[in-house]
Amino acid sequence: MENLLTHKQEIFSRLDTIYEQMEQACTLSARKLSDVNLMAVTKTVEPQRVNLAIEYGVKYLGENRAQELVSKYDDYNKDQVEIHFIGHLQTNKVRQIIDKVSMIQSVDSLHLAQEIDRLAMNRLGHPMDILVEINIGSEESKSGISADETEKLVTEIAQLPGIRVRGLMCIPPICENTAVLEHYFDQMHQLFVDIGEKSIDNVTMDYLSMGMSGDYFYAIKHGANLIRLGSAIFGKRKV
Ligand SMILES: *Cc1c(COP(=O)(O)O)cnc(C)c1O
Repeated sequence: MENLLTHKQEIFSRLDTIYEQMEQACTLSARKLSDVNLMAVTKTVEPQRVNLAIEYGVKYLGENRAQELVSKYDDYNKDQVEIHFIGHLQTNKVRQIIDKVSMIQSVDSLHLAQEIDRLAMNRLGHPMDILVEINIGSEESKSGISADETEKLVTEIAQLPGIRVRGLMCIPPICENTAVLEHYFDQMHQLFVDIGEKSIDNVTMDYLSMGMSGDYFYAIKHGANLIRLGSAIFGKRKV
């Protein structure tokens, strides 16, 4: 790693700007900044640079790939952070990450949930927190379930003793038109509120995870309380 001090200045100054934007979005939607949590998405970023975001005060790390998490895990300064898995997760990879994360945000099938349930009970001895991933734009290329199926899946997953459903997550389609994007975020928020009101056993709608580097302002405006930023913090990804 070349000059760590330069990286620190860059990352700190980007985070300053991000917090200003977050504050503006909160003001606009009459919310408190303290209600919105910032996650640093670490894919392709060296652990030393991830640790700079932690040093700044970021409390959540988001991991996309099981193998990458395993190889970087020991080098993170983990005392002050929660690590969440946010990428597409194959059932046979759950065992690699189950003891390294405090939440799996990308659950989109009963089959995957059953494997998390099994390993949480056997290996952790306590339930794993999860979010259900919604494919809010119904894009064929994306994982996640449709908005229509969400309540059914949440209800099924909620029966598993090794899982606690804590909310919803999405990656909306890339939208040229801000009004379209805002509509997707608004639909997510509605779903989040509706399911919360059903008071399903073992389900609490605590986290609405949406908003990335290009759209977090609008996500906050529509109720996101966990935003996931990669390039806005660390700069353009190499890969
Ligand atoms: C990469 C990624 C992000 C962050 O993307 P940026 O545009 O770099 O902020 C957020 N969420 C998920 C699930 C990702 O894979």
